[in-house]
Amino acid sequence: MNNPTSIDVAILGGGPAGCSAASWLGQLGLKTLLVEREPRLCAALAALDFTQDWVLGQPATRLADLAEQYAAQARATPGLALRLGAQVESARHSPEGWALQLAGGERVQARALLVATGLRLLRPSRYFASPHPRVMDAATLTARRATLPPGRVLLLGAGDNAAENALFLAERGFDVTVWARGGWRAQTHLAERAEAHPRIQLRLSTPLPDTLLPDADGVTVGAERFDHAAALLGFEPEPSAFALLDEHARQHAFVAGDASGRWHPCVQTALADGVQAAKQIEQALRPQAAAAPQRYNNRQVIHLQGLRFRANLGVLDFERTGPQPIQVDAEVNLGALPVVARDADIGHVLDYRRVRTAIIDECTAEHTDLVEALLGKLCNRLMSLPGVVGVRLKLTKLEIFPDCEVAISTELGAW
Ligand SMILES: Cc1cc2nc3c(=O)[nH]c(=O)nc-3n(C[C@H](O)[C@H](O)[C@H](O)COP(=O)(O)OP(=O)(O)OC[C@H]3O[C@@H](n4cnc5c(N)ncnc54)[C@H](O)[C@@H]3O)c2cc1C
Repeated sequence: MNNPTSIDVAILGGGPAGCSAASWLGQLGLKTLLVEREPRLCAALAALDFTQDWVLGQPATRLADLAEQYAAQARATPGLALRLGAQVESARHSPEGWALQLAGGERVQARALLVATGLRLLRPSRYFASPHPRVMDAATLTARRATLPPGRVLLLGAGDNAAENALFLAERGFDVTVWARGGWRAQTHLAERAEAHPRIQLRLSTPLPDTLLPDADGVTVGAERFDHAAALLGFEPEPSAFALLDEHARQHAFVAGDASGRWHPCVQTALADGVQAAKQIEQALRPQAAAAPQRYNNRQVIHLQGLRFRANLGVLDFERTGPQPIQVDAEVNLGALPVVARDADIGHVLDYRRVRTAIIDECTAEHTDLVEALLGKLCNRLMSLPGVVGVRLKLTKLEIFPDCEVAISTELGAW
């Protein structure tokens, strides 16, 4: 059986919350794997082909375009691995972290799990038992409303979604009936505009119909006929990821975005949640760095310069026959730490001997073809040491040519 993919953080769900968290986790130098069940990132948002004036700084940008921007930035995040069109089949938590099993057989070992799987629309079976194009949910209505031929439409529900759709359709010449078992739950300005609109008829505080009977020409509701009906009855956190977690595991999972039951689910709360979750995860994985009192502004960096030893490295014939001399120069950023003005326990700091040993171990464990690959392995190893928030490395082949040395350097994490 293959070794599990070993990472710091596994994210389930690649919407705005998952992408925002992934981007931040990358910047914090944490190795992340994002599992999205759709074949693309931000799939739900990509279906929203209209602008949204409450998105600060982007009032004229279509939500679908925002989706592409978020996805592009997430895809470019260093250290982020994507599994698109993928599903997690099991997720178990133990003191060592998370063991995930993906459909298709891949196993993943993660130190933290973030659930960012969004919402699912409530689709009561009495209306949706047999799917029909004339009976829509919020997502379908939003996708189709600009192209529906005007007529009589019934909207069940009285939240923001119902009020906003009622106004949109009434402006396009529809006769709209808003039917809800209670009063308005929509924002006051939307409700007031809907009440004042001559094409919108209200039937509030009225028990909802038992059934909607669609046929080729319309929808029968009791004694009435409509051209279309939509049930806009709210949403709930998407349950598929939570169903994988037992009670113990749920206590250890991080949750972000709509999945966390946001009072106002939208792109901005989802993006902010992703950042918050990333910082919380960093704090959980690197308590030393996070607990450090920033006010001291005492950034500590361990420098190892001119560390020389022999390693099996390279693709050239002579490089494969035996080890060659290399030099590693390393800077290990420990972030902001309290000022230590008198001697303390060595166990409270990162012992630089561990850094040196880790570098030599990683470089001599096995033959590596590419310097770049060895730098990647070294970065991961050093970033996993306690308290490390950033790594700068330079690896030099000292005798590769008779007339010069060759070096490659890299930088990862926070600097
Ligand atoms: C019809 C409609 C209109 C909207 N209009 C607006 C608007 O005008 N303005 C606004 O700001 N917001 C609007 N929203 C809300 C906005 O889309 C969400 O608030 C935002 O996308 C939430 O981001 P998220 O990352 O939390 O969840 P989502 O965007 O829902 O992303 C969750 C992701 O998780 C994936 N997923 C689910 N389960 C699993 C699983 N088990 N494994 C792997 N992946 C999984 C999903 O495929 C999805 O890609 C609207 C939503 C709808 C449905």
